[in-house]
Amino acid sequence: MPRIPNSKPLDSPRCDLRLPEAALRYRRTANPVLTTPQALGAINVTAWLYRDRNGVVGIQVNPNVTIAELARVYGPAATPDAEVGLHSEGLAADWFRTRPDLTVIQIFSERVPCFSMCAPMLRHYYPGVPWYYYYDSNSWRGNNGERIRRAGEILRSAYGV
Ligand SMILES: [Zn+2]
Repeated sequence: MPRIPNSKPLDSPRCDLRLPEAALRYRRTANPVLTTPQALGAINVTAWLYRDRNGVVGIQVNPNVTIAELARVYGPAATPDAEVGLHSEGLAADWFRTRPDLTVIQIFSERVPCFSMCAPMLRHYYPGVPWYYYYDSNSWRGNNGERIRRAGEILRSAYGV
């Protein structure tokens, strides 16, 4: 059972825990499995709660890289950081842009949406939709800007994997 995520804003409605569960399920059922420390550090998964015109609720899950790219990510080369490349929130936003009949209700992303790209994009296209996350790199930086805890460790404990 995933831990309850942090929220922005702080007084948001409680996160629908089906979102982190869906993200974890995605990691567990991906091929290759994405629950290793390496994959937890390299990949960010986002899960968005939405409602269709008939009031039916669904969840859209996106990793920050496509399935085709996972093989490349898992190559012998150095592990890329999840904050580079195609961001999961951008991929999810692309998915919803082509489905305007769906209303986004909650946005869960394992890492808080990045300050430079995703945060302004989400505020613009999904104003008022609360965010939920486990890892915020800004909360885990030392006085000299160094990372004192890494996303992979935080996610491993949040998911209990
Ligand atoms: Zn981003």
